Amino acid sequence: MKYINATYAARLKAQEEFECNNCGNCCTQCAPIDITLEDLQRLAAHFGKSLKTTAKRHCKPNPYTGRGLVIKQDRPCKFYDSKNKKCKIYESRPEVCRKHPFLSSEPEWSNSFMVPLHCKSACEIHKKMIERGEI
Ligand code: SF4
Ligand code: SF4
Repeated sequence: MKYINATYAARLKAQEEFECNNCGNCCTQCAPIDITLEDLQRLAAHFGKSLKTTAKRHCKPNPYTGRGLVIKQDRPCKFYDSKNKKCKIYESRPEVCRKHPFLSSEPEWSNSFMVPLHCKSACEIHKKMIERGEI
């Protein structure tokens, strides 16, 4: 059986309840945008290119840790379509984007409940959960 701590369970609940308002703040204000090996494989398939070409074109080493890859351009993300306010690679977007806003910032075992202040919808859910005594 998988152990889920209370904070992570609350984050899962918040994520379930969350509704994105498509403001675009996460895609224009967040950095770095991590790319895992699975993300790179998905991106390579999306563009029909090799892993090497995809990494070279769209990724760079993480400038903060020096380990792993991140999307080459952020703030705004190079895949953000600012005119239409949407992700150009939505179906193939990285895991960190799929987990945003409540599941991306901290690992499963963490007892932190981080609320990204750039995300108004996330802040509203957080407030509701406090009012309901759920966190
Ligand atoms: S900041 Fe929050 S509400 Fe705005 S686009 Fe990102 S996830 Fe959606
Ligand atoms: S990959 Fe897509 S969802 Fe992720 S930050 Fe870039 S534009 Fe936003």
